[in-house]
Amino acid sequence: MNCPGHICIYQSHPRSYRDLPIRYAEFGAVYRYERSGVLHGMMRVRGFTQDDAHIFCTPEQIPSEIERLLDLCDEMLKTFGYPYTIELATRPDKALGSAEQWKEGEKTLADVLNKRGQAFTYDAGGGAFYGPKLDFKLIDAIGRKWQGPTVQLDFNLPERFGLEYTGADNTPHRPIMLHRVLVGSMERFVGGLIEHFAGAFPLWLAPEQVRVIPIADELKTFAQSVVERLKARGVRVHLDDRSDTLNYRIREGEMLKIPYMAVVGKREAEADSIALRVRGAGKKQEIITVADFAARLEDELATRALKQ
Ligand code: ZN
Repeated sequence: MNCPGHICIYQSHPRSYRDLPIRYAEFGAVYRYERSGVLHGMMRVRGFTQDDAHIFCTPEQIPSEIERLLDLCDEMLKTFGYPYTIELATRPDKALGSAEQWKEGEKTLADVLNKRGQAFTYDAGGGAFYGPKLDFKLIDAIGRKWQGPTVQLDFNLPERFGLEYTGADNTPHRPIMLHRVLVGSMERFVGGLIEHFAGAFPLWLAPEQVRVIPIADELKTFAQSVVERLKARGVRVHLDDRSDTLNYRIREGEMLKIPYMAVVGKREAEADSIALRVRGAGKKQEIITVADFAARLEDELATRALKQ
């Protein structure tokens, strides 16, 4: 975990209420010696990348900081196309901090959610021993639930590390610490995405977005020019000019779930166009000029559209 590291950065200078909130984020490599029997694809690995962020703020700043985090989680989950639910995990039996502090923390979290009109359920006693938290549960394409982002209030670490800031009254105060995780383990998150999309990534996520396939040798030069023009627009595009049959190459593109295949014949080349095959649309082909196709890709990429 990188919480203690961020605490050290906080402590490296005297802090004033004017400096707060202070927000640190990090992608940290972490290791865990899992037994070989429990390793599982990208879901459970021995070395992974954890996104973690910590916010040091005054008690008054908690609601607005929570709001920002909820916005961030919402934007991210919508972008990836995950519906989600939120659970508010409350005080467990063994907990640090006063009952008063917990009550107030839980109320702050609930108030922010209510103010936003965001539905949530309570996970009674499900909080960590050091503070209440918001747990996002993702729902993937086939209805499975995944652990999503968490936003955690922490009464404990600021106390243990003696964190302070100088208040407007010129006396020392204790900041509140928020932990927030968006993806958790990057490896696990990507594994989950592959499952969620069943390998058929939306255009903006697809490793190969377009494959250009000339139907005959003499069309290679034109096909290459299509590739260059799309590449210049930032599209991840490849040329498949292998000597295999057209059917074989199209079948391979379909198996790889490439969002678009641009087939180039003589007639298309003459009209500076392509025969477009859209993933999932079967044999249907759409004749479209290279310029129109490029504009369509640009729009789909800019909006991070989930559907073609
Ligand atoms: Zn942390």
